[in-house]
Amino acid sequence: MKCPKCAAGMATVSFAGIDVERCHACHGLWFDALEHEDLRRIDGSERIDDGLSAVGRAFDVDAPLRCPCCAGAMVRMVDTRQSHLWFESCTSCHGVFFDAGEFRDFKDESWLDRLRDLWRGERR
Ligand SMILES: [Zn+2]
Ligand SMILES: [Zn+2]
Repeated sequence: MKCPKCAAGMATVSFAGIDVERCHACHGLWFDALEHEDLRRIDGSERIDDGLSAVGRAFDVDAPLRCPCCAGAMVRMVDTRQSHLWFESCTSCHGVFFDAGEFRDFKDESWLDRLRDLWRGERR
């Protein structure tokens, strides 16, 4: 598999029986459909995201991407729990790509994120 962002090779990284692909160059992560949600719930899974956030931000550009898995079109998604966090999702196979550092952020909701969600819950 080739990285959808920088076209470098990707290597398989396994955690708790789930295989994800990690780019050798930009350290972006590829998850098959819903694997990122499964891994989010597992302690220690942030270790698979070993790149620097600064590198991830440099690659976080708004350019159209092709899915590395099925070549489908990818669209930008916003995490419903953390609106500052954007990632790319394939419209056909639903795999997702996180830039370096974004999965750590995705997993680690800050107390402020939780507080915001609480307020929102009470207003309903
Ligand atoms: Zn890459
Ligand atoms: Zn796809």
